[in-house]
Amino acid sequence: MKLPPSEWIERRGLAALIAALDGKARFVGGAVRDSLLGVTVKDVDIATPLLPRDVMERLKAASIKVVPTGIDHGTVTAVLPDGPVEITTLRRDVSTDGRRATVAFSENWREDAARRDFTINALFADPETLEISDYFGGLTDLEQRQIRFIGSAAERIAEDHLRIMRYFRFLARFGLHDLEPEAFRACVEAAPKLELLSRERVADELLKLLATDDPRLAVGKMLDTGIFDHIIADTDELASVLLDRLVDREQVHAIVPGAVRRLVALLPKQRDQAGAVAKSLKLSKKLQRAIAERLPTLTDDQTGPGADLFQGENDIRALAYRTSVEAARDVALLFVDDESLSDMLSRLKGWQSPHFPLTGGDLIERGLKPGPIVARTLATIEQAWIDNGFPDEKWLANYVDGLDFTPGT
Ligand code: ATP
Ligand code: MG
Repeated sequence: MKLPPSEWIERRGLAALIAALDGKARFVGGAVRDSLLGVTVKDVDIATPLLPRDVMERLKAASIKVVPTGIDHGTVTAVLPDGPVEITTLRRDVSTDGRRATVAFSENWREDAARRDFTINALFADPETLEISDYFGGLTDLEQRQIRFIGSAAERIAEDHLRIMRYFRFLARFGLHDLEPEAFRACVEAAPKLELLSRERVADELLKLLATDDPRLAVGKMLDTGIFDHIIADTDELASVLLDRLVDREQVHAIVPGAVRRLVALLPKQRDQAGAVAKSLKLSKKLQRAIAERLPTLTDDQTGPGADLFQGENDIRALAYRTSVEAARDVALLFVDDESLSDMLSRLKGWQSPHFPLTGGDLIERGLKPGPIVARTLATIEQAWIDNGFPDEKWLANYVDGLDFTPGT
């Protein structure tokens, strides 16, 4: 079996890189798997029996920029014009504790394949002949869309608990969802161990799972079996229903998958509670804010699916103005009822948040006394302007004319 011709193999500088490694290199992991599936390849990973320092020297001698990104555990990164390429020395595990592995370098391809997680992730391809080496039946599993651990699922999960989450991610991406009972049981049983992992690793993997085209079945299984409770402490009672509806709507309206949007479907809808979960996952400030923006007006007594979020005077553009068009669109996808959804999406499509043209200086010029009153008045006018659907400057001028700025008021 050979790797099918793929665009990424022609990436600039890749041939020179392989030449610098004297042919002692094979493509591995996602690039091989995804090429075989005909899916676009993002990162290219290379495995080599050469030691990391040797790799560094060879690349430098060939004038290829190289960064020792994880040199202690065997990885250096070549910086090529079309993106980075990770080059990792063949390894074998010396000891593992479920969280991190101590590794030894190796010259044996099979040994290196054996420490990878799933058979479909342990395929190598020779850069010159494109011949595939498949030590554990990965090609058959790929064809049958089976996510299969290499060796005993329970043992492999005990070595690295994150593999539970990786299992469901690859299941979501490629699996037919006829799970191997043994692997599934091993995941469920070891799930409490996910709590021992660094939150960063867990969060990173969670977002990758939620970014897959259709995570519904995989996440549904994780929710049903309680695995999810060991990832995030607090989920919405209706998590699964909301996620299902959300992904349906994304598909109907051709909206690209969004991990944060899906995460909000799963989180409790009370802002504080959702915020606490986001914090406990050590999400970046930016992501924490993105989550908060997608839980706009729900308060303590408004938990639940939030179907009545936008009624009466609430306009989706007002929310977009206060947050962003993307956040408002996500709120609509997540919470509004079916009848209102299309209308809201079309009100947002191609719409750009207008600029509020009035300043405090304008108000002072018109006789308002400088002081805290200026900001307060400005905010009141801005709110009226939003409530009236962002009318033009003439409207604003009229509105301001109607205000009484005489001292003492
Ligand atoms: P993608 O990058 O498309 O998500 P990938 O298969 O390249 O998929 P990576 O996380 O980039 O996944 O890892 C690259 C390869 O390293 C995997 O294909 C797998 O062989 C191996 N690998 C990564 N993480 C683990 C792990 N926790 N346990 C065992 N092997 C792993
Ligand atoms: Mg990868």
